[in-house]
Parts: sequence; C-alpha cells; structure tokens
Amino acid sequence: MARKEKTITNKNLIRENQPKIEECIRTLLGLLGDNPDRPGLKETPKRVAKMYAEILDGQLYTNQEIGKMFAKNFDVDTHNLVVVKDITFYSLCEHHIVPFFGKAYIGYIPNGKVIGLSKLARITQMCAKRLQLQEKLGDDIAQAVMAATGAKDVAVVLKDTKHLCVSMRGVKDDTFDTTTAALYGRFVTKKALRDEFYNIIKK
Ligand SMILES: [Zn+2]
Repeated sequence: MARKEKTITNKNLIRENQPKIEECIRTLLGLLGDNPDRPGLKETPKRVAKMYAEILDGQLYTNQEIGKMFAKNFDVDTHNLVVVKDITFYSLCEHHIVPFFGKAYIGYIPNGKVIGLSKLARITQMCAKRLQLQEKLGDDIAQAVMAATGAKDVAVVLKDTKHLCVSMRGVKDDTFDTTTAALYGRFVTKKALRDEFYNIIKK
C-alpha cells in the first residue's frame, strides 16, 4: 500500500524542532535511569537531534516530491527494461525506531524518459530516510521512480535485509532475511517481464 501523500510545507521542520527534540532525548535518558548530565551523555541529545534531521529528512517530502527532486531525465525511445542492482539503503523501522537495512533492486520500462542511474540510488536513500516498513519502502521507491520518469511499469525488490529490531530483541533471529517486491504495471500482468527482471537480479 502506498503512503498517504501528505505534504509538509516546512522543509526545515526537524531542524527547527532541534531544541525540543534535544529536550525529549534528555528526558528519555533520565527515564532510562541514566544521568543526562554525566560527561559521556552531555552532548548526546544534541547529537541525536542533529542525526534525526539527517537520517529522517525524507519524512518531509512526499513520494511525488522526491521523484521531482531527482527528475533530471533524458529522452529515449527505447522500451527495454532498465535494471539497477545492489543499491544499499538504511532506514528506521517505524515500530521500534531502530535500523533496518539491505539492498534495493529497481527495474522499469522507460516511457519516453530515463534518469541517471545514480538518481535511482538517491531516490531509494531518500525514501529510506523515513520511519518505515520494508513493505512500504518498496512502494514508496516505486512511486517516486514513476514520478521521476513517467514510467508506468516499475518493480522494486528489497532483499538481504537485516532488521535490528528482530536481531536485537524478541526472537533474536540473526539469520532473518526478508524479501519484498513492489510491482506495478506490466510487471504485474506480464510474467515474461517479471521473470526477466527476477533473472537479472538473481545472484
Ligand atoms: Zn521493528
């Protein structure tokens, strides 16, 4: 399911909220039984608040806006499958606010336009800079790719993922590796195209 596209007009929101975020982290450290004034923790609230502004930057943009951000595209008249493999992403799970990370594989059929391959990596990383779920991340990337290229046929596979909320707590299963696929257009209806994509990204 696609994320509800809600535009946040203030793109500096997290930065402007830094003092409040710092205060929250300070409070949290105290509630966790530690002393926020001890030397090792003194700068922690500031560091964490600054880090959130960086690693949650994608929260402030819709998929459409992320697509437009990297939409420096080139006209082509090819309709051949384009595939980019092994894009590393780091995200934060929305249930526990701890990292999950893995590799993204993106395929699309150009609809008159292509974007630079590095832009697909940038789109992936921007969509990952949100409180996310793996399933939702794939859909977000696919929608941003559609917005950037005008393509209707897009496939995003996320695999080799590690969810630290699974490794560090609960079942503590370190071998956990979830694969998810977000398929649109002919990747849904044409088995041959889907097979071609899966064949290319298979290790
Ligand atoms: Zn989690």
